[in-house]
Amino acid sequence: MTTTPNKPSLNPVNVIIFVGLPIAALILVPAWGFYHGFSAAQWLWALVFLYLNGLSITGGYHRLWSHKAYQAHPALKWFYALWGAGALQNSILIWSADHRRHHRYVDDNERDPYSAGRGLWFSHMGWMLRDYQTNDPDFSNARDLQRDAVVMFQHKHYIALTVLMNVGLPLLLGFYLGDVIGTLLLVGLFRLIVNHHVTFFINSLAHFWGRRPYTESNSARDNGFLAFLTYGEGYHNYHHIFQTDYRNGIRWWQWDPTKWLIYGCSRIGLTRDLVRIPDFKIQRAILDTQFKRARSKLEASANPESLRAILEREYQQFTDSINQWTSLQAERYETKKAEIGGAFSEKRFHLQQKWESAALRTKFRELEYSLKMQRKRLELLMEQVNLQAQPA
Ligand SMILES: [Zn+2]
Ligand SMILES: [Zn+2]
Repeated sequence: MTTTPNKPSLNPVNVIIFVGLPIAALILVPAWGFYHGFSAAQWLWALVFLYLNGLSITGGYHRLWSHKAYQAHPALKWFYALWGAGALQNSILIWSADHRRHHRYVDDNERDPYSAGRGLWFSHMGWMLRDYQTNDPDFSNARDLQRDAVVMFQHKHYIALTVLMNVGLPLLLGFYLGDVIGTLLLVGLFRLIVNHHVTFFINSLAHFWGRRPYTESNSARDNGFLAFLTYGEGYHNYHHIFQTDYRNGIRWWQWDPTKWLIYGCSRIGLTRDLVRIPDFKIQRAILDTQFKRARSKLEASANPESLRAILEREYQQFTDSINQWTSLQAERYETKKAEIGGAFSEKRFHLQQKWESAALRTKFRELEYSLKMQRKRLELLMEQVNLQAQPA
């Protein structure tokens, strides 16, 4: 018999929630569907609950509380706290403290609570089934959240709230729809299990499957298909490098309902101070990754001298653009400071300030454009390298 001396003991509550409930759902939901059937209204309500839970985790727990990507009106915070409790993924305080550790120590098997380095199963849900030392409560990185009244209320009354949202509400809805058991099974149980696993995909699959355009320094990936399942969180490579951005899918067409919710709420005053990483920094990250890849490819190929010279020239230009951008940022800061200082009521001076701001904006745009062009040239260069690498 094999023994595993280092494996901590199972956590009975979590085993019931994450193993017992899915087994119950797998048996009871199809059985009820077969013998009794579910109505279209029940399916619709299950979808509505699913999205309210999911968006409260991604928009609330994740982007608002864990990363401070924007500020929210108290009404929205209460909404997130209630529907987030309904997702049964622990309180905001515990979730966010764990998540901040995940970002800080990503892939570190000793300190990242759901390190992808420990495998797909562990990062998906294995980490919750046993009392691993990385799960010990530690709120030293969440003092700000301990000062948030909504967070602390939810933490204190978590069990009551989660029972209310997972049993109480589906029960009421069941009376209204005229089928209590079916509604409890579909809107209560089935919806809960689906939401669990799609959220867990972010910690598991989004660290294994997809592209890494922004950084290769950690295992996080961008994956449009996962984004569709995870309310927009599948652009995880971007998220790990720019975690304070309120968006995960930064292009307008990228599926990110969480970003649309946060932006939509800003139009009606429910959210404000949305953080957006400047486009230049994003381009810089992409180019930096491309240069690293190009270098290692060139080192591996047979006759790279001329191509290597081009690459080095491009890299020099890249460094120049970054330096220019940094000094422009400093200039912009000074201009802003002078504007805010408000010491200049004189109209002429004011106009000059305006002109300087506009000139700065143009320079910024030019720099952004030059990085975009450089990206294209680098792609062409890589095509050439790949051609060279092919046997004649
Ligand atoms: Zn991650
Ligand atoms: Zn995050």
